Amino acid sequence: MAKNTHKSQPEGTYRIEITGLVQGVGFRPFIYRLASDLGMKGWVENRNSGVLLVTGGDEAEIENFRDKLLELAPAAASIESVEYTRVEDEKLGDFEIRTSSDLSDSITEISPDIAVCPECLSDMLSQEHRIGYPLINCTHCGPRFSIIRDLPYDRQHTTMETFEMCPQCQFEYRDIKDRRFHAQPVACNHCGPSYQLVSGGKAFDKVEDIRIQLLEILREGGVVAMKGTGGFHLVCSAFSKEGVKKLRELKKRDGKPFALMFRDTDQAKKYVEIGPAEETELTSWRRPIVLLRKKREITEGIADGLSSLGIMLPYMPFHHLLFEAGNVSALVMTSGNFSQEPILISNRKVMEQFGPKVDGVVSYNREIYNRVDDSVIAVIRGKPMVLRRARGFTPMPIRAHLDLEGILGTGAELTGSFCMGKGHLALMSQYAGDLKNLPNYEFYQEIYERYCRLFRFTPRLVVSDLHPDYLSTRFARELTQTFPELKHISVQHHHAHIASAMLDCGLDGDVLGFSFDGSGYGSDGRMWGAEVMRASYEDFDRLFHFEYVNLPGGDKASQEPWRMGLSYLYKCFGEELYALNVPLTGHFSRKDMGNILNLLDKKINCPPVSSAGRLFDAVAAILGLNYYSSYQAEAPMLLESAIDHSENGSYPYEREGEQLCFTSLIKGVVQDVHRGISVGRIAAKFHHTLVHLILEISMEYRARTGMERVVLAGGSFQNRFLCQQAMDRLEKEKFRVSVPGRIPPNDQGIAVGQLAIGAHREKLL
Ligand SMILES: [Zn+2]
Ligand SMILES: [Zn+2]
Repeated sequence: MAKNTHKSQPEGTYRIEITGLVQGVGFRPFIYRLASDLGMKGWVENRNSGVLLVTGGDEAEIENFRDKLLELAPAAASIESVEYTRVEDEKLGDFEIRTSSDLSDSITEISPDIAVCPECLSDMLSQEHRIGYPLINCTHCGPRFSIIRDLPYDRQHTTMETFEMCPQCQFEYRDIKDRRFHAQPVACNHCGPSYQLVSGGKAFDKVEDIRIQLLEILREGGVVAMKGTGGFHLVCSAFSKEGVKKLRELKKRDGKPFALMFRDTDQAKKYVEIGPAEETELTSWRRPIVLLRKKREITEGIADGLSSLGIMLPYMPFHHLLFEAGNVSALVMTSGNFSQEPILISNRKVMEQFGPKVDGVVSYNREIYNRVDDSVIAVIRGKPMVLRRARGFTPMPIRAHLDLEGILGTGAELTGSFCMGKGHLALMSQYAGDLKNLPNYEFYQEIYERYCRLFRFTPRLVVSDLHPDYLSTRFARELTQTFPELKHISVQHHHAHIASAMLDCGLDGDVLGFSFDGSGYGSDGRMWGAEVMRASYEDFDRLFHFEYVNLPGGDKASQEPWRMGLSYLYKCFGEELYALNVPLTGHFSRKDMGNILNLLDKKINCPPVSSAGRLFDAVAAILGLNYYSSYQAEAPMLLESAIDHSENGSYPYEREGEQLCFTSLIKGVVQDVHRGISVGRIAAKFHHTLVHLILEISMEYRARTGMERVVLAGGSFQNRFLCQQAMDRLEKEKFRVSVPGRIPPNDQGIAVGQLAIGAHREKLL
């Protein structure tokens, strides 16, 4: 990591440049303490790119300092490089922190929220004024983004403003040798915010009482609303049938699998498989939800029919206090919101909306300013793939190799998120949900305003999706009305998926991209969703795509997989489908099916779509796994979960010019059902068919063009089996394969792709 420019130098003055970092994690005080402990002289100051330190010593001392720095740095400080060079001798005094040089053209990188650190957990047991303090924090941990109103990052610009520090906290805050030096949210039992539980008409203010009451409620199958870092959770014991059932009823139409919080990895390992890379993610300071392979079921209703569970570990001091009591080892923790609305952050709203329906509301009186959901990660072949980028990541920028200055990508719609470019940094907003729901769209607009203020951003170029009716497109149009000189370009959805993955992986030039998802607006105005393209940042050629199949009922059909199942069956078997003996045709009446066929015959509201997601839907429905979806991608997730890993067979598919057709596949599926082949084996064969398709097309294209770089992106590649198998097979054939990691492969990543494409297209305007 360090560049040693002068070998074996004797004692002298060294300049050490540290790049990366995030402000607000106590990095300079940490350096100060480390340097003082090592008896070093000199100074440290903030620079645009990181931190500059000048010190004296010989090379061994400098290297020792560097090693200690890397070993002991605050967890949330992301050090990119440490380089040192010998400079002209300088007379150095006792180590000091200098006021910063001009930083006017740089942005302040705001730290994401950080899980409570081990030192604070131990302080919670030993520091007199913080014994059992449920909101303990220090410069290395605690809330950040969620409480920041404005910059600079000072206490008066956070929601801690209303709490006056007691003399003891003040002393720590001012003592550079203390771990709480300049920790803006610093607080203790005497002066800080506190918890409250309201239950059964009574209010409890003492942490010990809250804990006892809460555990009692949970043990008896109750559900509580509990305030987290970035919003409320709805919580019940993971082992209570009654609790889970009650929680399901509260969430109504939203059938999404529930995430769980386990006391520790040992407890979690009883129910899920945790590999080393997965454990690293689980225990990281970001504390995301990690998708893990189920070993056995916990309680019905948590994640029925799915082969994985979303697990996280405690990240707030209060979570630790709860689990410490010992009689609870796992909680269901689902976002506290009504179906598909933003996670609730206000105590008042939670009391109004959930108060009467739950058995208790646990909150604290420090306000959440920026709402931020739990993040979700999957590990694919030992590497993390972020599926939902929010708490612990937001608003940390993604460093790009492209100049993105002044560009705004407004994203897609189903998974709302925007991205703004500041120099080489892509600043992605947190996940904002489906923008078609007004409260989500309002949330999206609100965070846009806040990001503009926090990061001093004014758009020069706005890039939106091609879809004219996406609310994110409307948002872009409205911006151009407000700022007439603002340039606006539109980018095709699946091209943006590939560009997003390319930026994430630092790629340039041309790639062969497989962009598979549910749907996106095509350049020809039709619905696309399974594209094979030669792509660069500038443009793309659509080489192949899935065949167009009519979607009976339009948008509605994406929530009713049985319609697409029927459409495929009709295409392959005509009226003979009534005679088939598959779960789908057995489940619905001839009349119901007839109505759909009628729509298809008359072409009433049956737009043709070319979509990977809809093909998954169709096969899942034919097999009887899912007829109606209660959450996004339910049918594909159930189909993946059904896979029997011992099956290696596949089905044939056809090619008609640019179209990839699946008549043989659908016929094969039906035939296998008739032969009594298990759903698990059929699901495996279906997935292998797509893997073969990806491999065959890649091989053929490489033979023709020499192209070795393959990029997989789009929501369908969240399917770990598909992604892993495709990567394995491609790499075995010596392809260089890239999938996104830091940026979600789904529609949350679209805005980043728009930025990358915008940066290149702009030159052509
Ligand atoms: Zn701490
Ligand atoms: Zn205090």
